[in-house]
Amino acid sequence: MSGGRRSGDTKFVFFTGGVSSSLGKGLTASSLGRLLKSRGLKVTMMKLDPYLNVDPGTMNPFEHGEVFVTEDGGETDLDLGHYERFIDENLNRESNATTGSIYSEIILKERRGDYLGKTVQVIPHVTDEIKSRMMRVAEGEADVVIVEIGGTVGDIEIVPFLEAIRQVRRDVGRDNVCYVHLTLVPFLAPSGEQKTKPTQHSVTELRSRGIQPDVIVCRSDQPIPAALKRKISLQCDVPVEAVVSAVDAPSIYLIPHMLREEGLDSVVCRTLRIDEDRHPIDLSRWDTVVSRVNMPGTIVRIGIVGKYVNLPDAYLSVIEAVRHGGFYHGARIEAQWLQAEEAENLVKSGEMSYLDGMIVPGGFGERGVEGKIAAVEFARVHEIPCLGICLGLQVMVVEYARHVLGLEGANSREMDRFTPHPVIDLMDDQRSVVDKGGTMRLGSYVAKLRPGSRAAVIYGVEVISERHRHRYEVNPRYSRQLEAAGLACSGMSPDDRLVEMVEVADHPFFVGTQAHPEFKSRPDRPHPLFRELVGAALVRAESRHPRIIDLDYISDPA
Ligand code: GLN
Repeated sequence: MSGGRRSGDTKFVFFTGGVSSSLGKGLTASSLGRLLKSRGLKVTMMKLDPYLNVDPGTMNPFEHGEVFVTEDGGETDLDLGHYERFIDENLNRESNATTGSIYSEIILKERRGDYLGKTVQVIPHVTDEIKSRMMRVAEGEADVVIVEIGGTVGDIEIVPFLEAIRQVRRDVGRDNVCYVHLTLVPFLAPSGEQKTKPTQHSVTELRSRGIQPDVIVCRSDQPIPAALKRKISLQCDVPVEAVVSAVDAPSIYLIPHMLREEGLDSVVCRTLRIDEDRHPIDLSRWDTVVSRVNMPGTIVRIGIVGKYVNLPDAYLSVIEAVRHGGFYHGARIEAQWLQAEEAENLVKSGEMSYLDGMIVPGGFGERGVEGKIAAVEFARVHEIPCLGICLGLQVMVVEYARHVLGLEGANSREMDRFTPHPVIDLMDDQRSVVDKGGTMRLGSYVAKLRPGSRAAVIYGVEVISERHRHRYEVNPRYSRQLEAAGLACSGMSPDDRLVEMVEVADHPFFVGTQAHPEFKSRPDRPHPLFRELVGAALVRAESRHPRIIDLDYISDPA
């Protein structure tokens, strides 16, 4: 079935959620994606978000977590990061659609007169637009498109999406659609029981929109016993083998196997009339990930100096990429979340020296930047392996300019408009653009690495491509000075205008990248920069504290 399928034969799996948000719908959908891919099917994924923002690009990370950037520069929901990491396929801006983006397209068409004076309505115009977004994704030769609907079935904004996915079964045929509903089965301590009532109610709500689920995935802290599965099966009118128990997992990378044992992929295949014998499952690649997750190893403490550290979801891809590096080396990653504003105090008290490695991740705005500069100085001077990502690279340059070049007051123009030494600045052609969104460098850009540089050694190639999301650049007026003082600009844009990577040679690991390498890391293929950062941090850890063997170790929950 894979290879050469006509897009008209594409099958759809729709994931809806009930009872509560944050049940891990994205991870469950991603895990199913992995299982289906492991059956040799070509899988792609998509997220429909009922909120009104046009994209998550301008949303506060505190509220919404990280903005995940696709190859083509889409600023998307962080669930797309899970999708890419689990199914190991690059997605694009079309893989995420919000109510805001759908309405703005419809209103544009209405103003252009495309509707020829007709009354424009939620049904059919909004639902048609939602369906056309899904069909566009399905055109890419996929055997199966997994579509996650954000939010929960009772939400007011979700109604057009439920209506659209209901219609899809009629449009593409009964055997080409599978509805999976994710619910919560809570354990109530006073009665000592797991309760099915919330599941019943949320399935009733889904049915009131005309959707009868084919599969119910029950999230719970304890496995759902057979008797309870029978009860849910009866109440919700699904076969008992289509009631899948999904207990809290110690690591997200264990979820595919857990769902496989519960038979999720088999039920989905049966619903979609995919012949399981012709598509036997081969999970060997994922098995290697699982074996690494469970491996005991030396504790490696990686400090992440950021301003959104109270909500680690704001750095989701960064921490996953560090974990991937840990899997590679058999190291146990202990993330230390360091509030940027407090970093100066941690430096003064000497607490920073407990770190084995440091990451200064991306960010916007002035808050906490001085703390990041202090942290980077500490890492540079005390030889703590340090990776600067985007704003992190910029902070490395500012720190070097101030403390090594002696350029007092050096700064990024973003933080200080009147700095005497704008070592990070907008490029000339950007300054005139008023609309801030318009000036952002977004998506994949190619860079060339200096032969023999650490960057080139780490990547193992001299031309790379990484995803970007920033406005400011290293000011070319200063790059020669920085270079002469020992901060090598080891990665450059092909036209030599933009600095893409910096590094200090005489250091265990001091590397900055203007890009966001975290988006391209995979559990079985860690990104080279994270792999090498963790490698250098591991060397430091092993030289500083004895090897810690913890046989019960399972990586910390994500
Ligand atoms: N604020 C910086 C810029 O716009 C860095 C952005 C980032 O770290 N993603 O250039």
